Amino acid sequence: MNTFERDQQYIAHTYKRFPVEIVSGKGSLVQDRDGKEYIDMGSGIAVTSFGVADEDWIRAVEEQIHKVQHMSNLYYTEPCALLAEALCSRTGMSRVFFSNSGAEANECAIKVARKWAAETKSPACSTIVTLENSFHGRTLTTLSATGQAHYHELFQPLTPGFAHIAAGDMDTLKALCGSGTVAAILIECVQGEGGVIPLDPEFAKALDDFTREQNILLMVDEVQTGNGRTGALYAYMHYGLHPDVVSTAKGLAGGLPLGATLLSEKVKDVLSYGDHGSTFGGNPVAAAAALSVVNRLTDDLLQAVSAKAAMLRNLFGGAPGIETVTGLGLMMGLKTVKPAAEVVAACMEKGVLCLTAKDKVRLLPALNIPDELLKKAADIILACCAG
Ligand SMILES: *Cc1c(COP(=O)(O)O)cnc(C)c1O
Repeated sequence: MNTFERDQQYIAHTYKRFPVEIVSGKGSLVQDRDGKEYIDMGSGIAVTSFGVADEDWIRAVEEQIHKVQHMSNLYYTEPCALLAEALCSRTGMSRVFFSNSGAEANECAIKVARKWAAETKSPACSTIVTLENSFHGRTLTTLSATGQAHYHELFQPLTPGFAHIAAGDMDTLKALCGSGTVAAILIECVQGEGGVIPLDPEFAKALDDFTREQNILLMVDEVQTGNGRTGALYAYMHYGLHPDVVSTAKGLAGGLPLGATLLSEKVKDVLSYGDHGSTFGGNPVAAAAALSVVNRLTDDLLQAVSAKAAMLRNLFGGAPGIETVTGLGLMMGLKTVKPAAEVVAACMEKGVLCLTAKDKVRLLPALNIPDELLKKAADIILACCAG
């Protein structure tokens, strides 16, 4: 059996894979088993922040692997303490809880909101409001948070205590909050899986003001938008928001599993001994990798991300076969005349790996993709959209 056959036989059929087996890579170039080379415009869905097999990232991982690859959370380890310090000092948040994925980072946020509201208001104050078309993960509770009915249908009963409102609908939010049962609002600044749709800045500002007025937690899901992806360290910074909780994962450790839930001063002590935990959370190798990633997200790097994004927007804006360009920074969605899946297949044929999100072609290249490669990929994408 080859890998395709073995995978088909032995792995649950939850992923519709392309018939491509990636075996190696360097930076934003990856090779398949037949030696065909691709420009990677997906970064493993915004995970490999500095591309594949990046030298600095390898060094950080390798150094830690030779020291200790894992310790239980019963003991201290340096990488996760340093990483927590770096995240707090860069964001102004006060403490971090580490987990292993985006869904888990959101689970932690939801637990914090529920306990905070129960203690400071009442146990009946347990509702988390999220937006329609949002995506917050695949565990049963984060699925319940996700505002897309088609993810819910087969998995009833869901976790109770979630309400979904349309982006921009302050009236419904106010009505919900009027009943005194809302603990928190959880938002993505740019809906990723939902189709690369940025939040309207006025609505974002209104949420920021409203949550503070009402003493409701504002929680931002930065799993996809975080860690430099949008040209800011976290996308909420573009919007000038004051979140109480920020969850992140995907690109944080540049290719190893790591989730982080950042807690503001207001909620930093909500979780106490025994309230939450994770065997692998804050694993020293993942944390060392993340520290190397976060330390590279300098102002210069973030400016370069924005410059690369502007270059792409210039190339795609108004181009034949492209109706709209959405997103923020290097998180970009193209509404194409042809079906997105058709464009992605054509791009793959011509050596460019792209993603889809709903009806869009979604691009999430490495933050340090060289301009020449980015142009080359854009030319191929343009040809596939037009032709
Ligand atoms: C990917 C994603 C998640 C889920 O992350 P996992 O690591 O797959 O659990 C949650 N929220 C958003 C916004 C995401 O893009």
